[in-house]
Amino acid sequence: MMKTLIKDVFLNGKTVDVLVAENLIAKIGSHLEDAADKIINAKNKAILPSFYNTHTHAAMMFLRGIGEDKDLFSWLQEDIWPREAKLSPEMIYHLSRFAILEMIKTGTTFFSDMYFYSDQTLKAAEEMGVRAAISALGMDFFDAGKRAEQQANMKEFLQQKSHPRITRGLSLHAIYSTSRELYEFAAELAETHQTFLHTHAAETLKEVNDCFDKYQCRPIELLKKYGALGPRSIFAHCLHLSEAEMDLMAQSKTAVSHCPSSSLKLNSGQMPLQQYLDKGMIITLGTDGVSSNNSLSMPAEMKIAALSAKNRAKSTTAAKVEDVFAMATVNGARTFGIDSGEIKEGKLADFILVDLNNYLLLPNHNLISNMIYAADSSCICDVFCDGRQVMKDFQVENEAEIVAEFKKVCAAF
Ligand SMILES: [Zn+2]
Repeated sequence: MMKTLIKDVFLNGKTVDVLVAENLIAKIGSHLEDAADKIINAKNKAILPSFYNTHTHAAMMFLRGIGEDKDLFSWLQEDIWPREAKLSPEMIYHLSRFAILEMIKTGTTFFSDMYFYSDQTLKAAEEMGVRAAISALGMDFFDAGKRAEQQANMKEFLQQKSHPRITRGLSLHAIYSTSRELYEFAAELAETHQTFLHTHAAETLKEVNDCFDKYQCRPIELLKKYGALGPRSIFAHCLHLSEAEMDLMAQSKTAVSHCPSSSLKLNSGQMPLQQYLDKGMIITLGTDGVSSNNSLSMPAEMKIAALSAKNRAKSTTAAKVEDVFAMATVNGARTFGIDSGEIKEGKLADFILVDLNNYLLLPNHNLISNMIYAADSSCICDVFCDGRQVMKDFQVENEAEIVAEFKKVCAAF
């Protein structure tokens, strides 16, 4: 059994040793004297859970900075969709690796992705040692031929095997691009396989109004009719919910992936986060794709989430640091059935080490608040996922090659 001993690390106000055995946090205590294969001197470093990014389109990396300052629908139609039509599976692989590189460098060890050729993103995540929830995507534009093709793809995708770090599931793009039949099919198939169902929902007021015109109900009510709500479901955005829809989300334990940077940048709306938390809704954090963020940094996302929520609630007591940090860590892990997101004995060993001498983390009155409001990637020196070190002293394996391949793909656009 592979054992790593992390010596003299700062955890919850104390200096401790943390023993990682295989893929678990086996023991936390002072002066642990275990025969470890590897000893890491973590003096002046703190251990924190790594981040769980619950809504990404990883391969969109090549679109960073394209079509800025446009409204959502013209941006999609004029800038995003025509370029995406040119993507090949091999390109998706290289773009996904670059996305995972950025995620690791900013402390993230899990992402829940929605995109085309997802087997390529899955392969990249398997190779780079992170966790991922990878989905077969449904977006049929109400066309029966496309639907049949995507249904077959979903079935096939769920039957294949992958590394235990990877969860295979299903995603549907949105109610305005995807038929009732495909939603119902995917909801039933996800139930059979006991896996997750991921979709965009209630992102814009236009979506809500169009839904009402077409179906005489609101988006979350429609998704309930489709059988899409439940404890393994995750809905990205959810910015425009009625009180009744908030209750539906809370009662069904459907998780929200809050992507505040993307929502604010696309002017889709501002989530009443504190109201959702008070309702008992499950809120996780996501970055969305870099095309609308424009980064995959979860520390940056936490700050935007907190500021936006305080502004929306007109209250400084909204979005408390513990709640925002939980959204970025343990809430996301739990939603995907991963027993991690906290530094405790028996949990999966997914964590980061941060440099307490970094000027952004000084003084250390409140480390969690420093991580939300001050930190950036320069504070994160080491990243572990499933007991394995995926970033060592700021370096990720094959970094130069990943960047070189990414630049080659970008040159084609
Ligand atoms: Zn999205």
